[in-house]
Amino acid sequence: MSQNGNTGKDGRKRVLVVGAGAAGMSTAYHLSNHPEKFDVTIIDSVDYCGGQAFSIPLDKERHGASWFNQGVQGGSYIFHHTLTMFARQGYHADPVKLQVSFGKADKFWTNVFPTDFIAKHQAEVRRLAFMLKFMRWFEVLFALLPLKVVFKLFLFSDEFTNVVGLPMTALFLGTGNATPEVPAIMLERLCTSPTYGMWYPADKNSVVSNLPPMVVFPNFTDFYTAWKKDLESRGVTVRLSTELTEVVHRNKRGVFVKTKPRTPVEDGHNPVGGDPDAIESEEHYDEIVLCVLADTAKKILGKTSSWRERRVLGSAKFSDDITITHNDSDYMKKYYENFYDEGKAVKTLGKNGDMDHSSRLAFAKDNFRPMYYIRMYDGDLSKLEMCFDTTNYQSQFPQKVPFEQHVFQTIYLNKGRDRKHWTDNEIDKDKIIRADWWHQLCHSWTHYVFVVPWMMFLQAKKRTRFAASWTLVNAHEIAIMSGIAAAVDMGADYPEDLEHDKFALLCFRLYYLLAYGKWYRRKFKDSKSQKAKDGASWALGLYGSVYQGPGVSTTERSVWREEVKAGRSTENLADGNNGRSQP
Ligand SMILES: Cc1cc2nc3c(=O)[nH]c(=O)nc-3n(C[C@H](O)[C@H](O)[C@H](O)COP(=O)(O)OP(=O)(O)OC[C@H]3O[C@@H](n4cnc5c(N)ncnc54)[C@H](O)[C@@H]3O)c2cc1C
Repeated sequence: MSQNGNTGKDGRKRVLVVGAGAAGMSTAYHLSNHPEKFDVTIIDSVDYCGGQAFSIPLDKERHGASWFNQGVQGGSYIFHHTLTMFARQGYHADPVKLQVSFGKADKFWTNVFPTDFIAKHQAEVRRLAFMLKFMRWFEVLFALLPLKVVFKLFLFSDEFTNVVGLPMTALFLGTGNATPEVPAIMLERLCTSPTYGMWYPADKNSVVSNLPPMVVFPNFTDFYTAWKKDLESRGVTVRLSTELTEVVHRNKRGVFVKTKPRTPVEDGHNPVGGDPDAIESEEHYDEIVLCVLADTAKKILGKTSSWRERRVLGSAKFSDDITITHNDSDYMKKYYENFYDEGKAVKTLGKNGDMDHSSRLAFAKDNFRPMYYIRMYDGDLSKLEMCFDTTNYQSQFPQKVPFEQHVFQTIYLNKGRDRKHWTDNEIDKDKIIRADWWHQLCHSWTHYVFVVPWMMFLQAKKRTRFAASWTLVNAHEIAIMSGIAAAVDMGADYPEDLEHDKFALLCFRLYYLLAYGKWYRRKFKDSKSQKAKDGASWALGLYGSVYQGPGVSTTERSVWREEVKAGRSTENLADGNNGRSQP
C-alpha cells in the first residue's frame, strides 16, 4: 500500500463509479480531469450510458422525426451544469416556451389563456396570490408543511387545491402523486422566486399567465454515447452490462465488491432481472461512488451498511410508474384539452370583471399547442395522470404535423397505490409505440426531513460516497451537480469556467454544503485565463440566473433544421389549419 493510503501500484486512487446515469458520468468525467490522481472505472448493469435519460427510434415518415427522448424532456435555464456538459460534448438544447393544459371540460385551465374554470374561482385565485406572498414572508414556518395542509389552512376548496395547486407543482418537480405531501416551499418558490420560479410572477387574476422559458434536451442517446467515448479517451474504463451485486468489505484496505456480467436484453432499457447464473468476480478499489437509486444502494451495501446508512437510505421512498408512448389521438381528445376552444375561453377577469385578457385569447387562437398535460382522475381529483405532447415539445419534430400523427407520452403513476384509477387499457394497442417502467422518487416532505439533511453524515464514510438526483430533487441538473460534488470531495477540481459563472458556483456551493456539510473554497479566484473569462460572461440578469453560456441555441426547433439536413427529420407533414387537425 502506498503512503497516501492508496493501493494502486502507481499511487493513483482506484475509484469505482457504480451507475452510468447523469450522476455517474459526471463523477467519472470530473475525476478524469486528473489522470495523475485517479484511476477511474465506471460500470452499469445495462448496456448503454445515460440511465433514465435515453432516446428511442421512431418512424420518421409517420411522425416527422426518427427519434424522441423518452421521459426526460427538458429543463430550465438555471441548468448551467447540464448545458455546459452538452456543449463540452458538442451538443445543444433548444429554447421552448412552455404551454400546459390542466384538467378537462369545466375543470380545464391553462397558462396560455383564461378559462371558465379560472373565472369561476376568482376569489380563490386571489387568495392563492395572497397565500404565496404570506408564505414568502414567513417562509420558515411553512417550508416543510405538506402542500395539502397549507391549502387547508388557507381554506381552499378541494377542487381548487386539486385542479390548480397540485398540477402546477407536480409539473416542474416531477412529484406525481406525492404532490399533496411535498413541502409547501416548493410551490411558493415556483411562484415567487425571480431566479428559479418557473411560474414567476404569479398572476392574481389567472393564477399564471407567463409561458415559462425552458430548454428542451438534445438526443440523449447520441449525447451519452459521445460522452462515453470522451471518458474512454481520457483513460476511464467504461464497463457496461456489468452489475455490482454486493459490497463485501469496506475497511482500511479498501472496498471489495462483487460484480457479474449481464447479457444485454433485446430492449436494453427495460432489463428483466439480470442473469442469475452468471459467475461473480471480486474486485478491489480504494473508493466507491454509488450513483444508483437509494434503495439499490442500501441493498448493494448489504451487510457492510451502517445503522445510519440503512436508516437514511431506507427513508427514501419510490413508486413504480409507467410511461406509455403512443399516438392515440382519440385517447388524448377524450381525456385532455388539446385545442383552443372559444366556448371555454373568457375575455375578462378580476373582481369587477375589468381585467382584459383578449390579447391572450387572440394569441391562443392560432398558437395554443400544449406540451405538458395533467389530468385529475374523476374518482379522486388528488390523483394525477401526466402526459406530454412530444411533437409539440421536443425540438426535432417539424412544426406542423397532423394531430393524429403526434407522439404522446402518458405517465401512469404509483402502481402500488393508484393502479385502480389508471385508464391505460383504453389506449389503442395498435397505437402504442412502447412502454417503459420507472422507479421514481417520491418527493414527500419526509424525504426532506429524513433523507436530505442526513446525507452529509454518510458521505465519505467507509470509503463511500453517494451521487444521484434523489439526493435532492429528481432533475438532470441535480444528478450532474451531485457527480461533480463527489469528484470535488475526492480532490478533483470544480471546473474553472463554472467557478467564474456566479450562478453555477452558487448552486454548486449550496448543493455541496447540503450534501457534504462543507463550503466549497474557490481555487481559481484570481485566474485571468480564457476559461475564467468565458465563465464570467455566462451568468447575467438577476443573481446571474439568466444563462448566456454555451449548450443552448437561441432559436426554437434549431435541432429540427439540423435533423432535416442530416435526413433524420422530415419537412412539415401538414399545411393549412395551422398544420393541425384542429376541430
Ligand atoms: C419519466 C421521467 C421524466 C423525467 N423528466 C425529466 C425532465 O424533463 N427534466 C429533468 O431535468 N429531469 C427529468 N427526470 C429526472 C432525470 O431524468 C433524473 O433525475 C436523472 O436522469 C437521474 O440520473 P441519476 O444518475 O441520478 O440516476 P439514473 O439515471 O437512474 O442512473 C442510475 C444508473 O445506475 C445503474 N445501476 C443500478 N443498479 C446498478 C447496479 N447494481 N450495478 C450497476 N449499475 C447499476 C442503472 O442501470 C442506471 O443506469 C425524469 C425522470 C423520469 C423517470
